[in-house]
Amino acid sequence: MPHVHPSRPPGATASRGGRSPECGASTQVPEEEGVELRRTAEGKGDGVMATRPFAVGETVMVGFLVGGLTGNDSHATQVGPGRWALHGGLGPMVNHSCDPNCGVRLNDVQAFDFVARQPIGAGQELTFDYAMRNFTIDHFPAVCLCGAARCRGSVTGWKDLPAARKTDYGELVAPYLHTMDDEIRRRTAPIGGVDRQVHRR
Ligand SMILES: [Zn+2]
Repeated sequence: MPHVHPSRPPGATASRGGRSPECGASTQVPEEEGVELRRTAEGKGDGVMATRPFAVGETVMVGFLVGGLTGNDSHATQVGPGRWALHGGLGPMVNHSCDPNCGVRLNDVQAFDFVARQPIGAGQELTFDYAMRNFTIDHFPAVCLCGAARCRGSVTGWKDLPAARKTDYGELVAPYLHTMDDEIRRRTAPIGGVDRQVHRR
């Protein structure tokens, strides 16, 4: 059964607590159906694993918030240029990869869902790129240990992500990152020479 996180908000249990067949008609997606926390023995720490396959574009985990923060810390998720928040559930336990199988999508409660950007098999670890949510990375070791063939060597934020990777990730990143890029482009572009990009979210 899914891991129960201590920070689960009391108001959110009703929609997710019942897993009996008669609850199957509910339109609410249980946040932690199909995923589980697994501890690895090799000292790599905890990871979140898929317990069933996910297709590209499928929502793997629905995000929810358990509180706001005034500043960045190692557990915070950046949700705006100067805004951070604390996610509940297993979202905060998902590890970084420079070639991740998940991206993020802002949902109706201003939390990040995890969405498959590659086919994910049962038993495979879920990963995302921290640069998909943070403009800068201030609280992680400089050397990246993700082990991906295309590892960029250090865990950088969106600010330092190569343009090709930004294109690769498409819409599966925090929307404010595109807004900040637009701002920077606008400030540095010559007057009158700006081709403003419009993003859906
Ligand atoms: Zn890496």
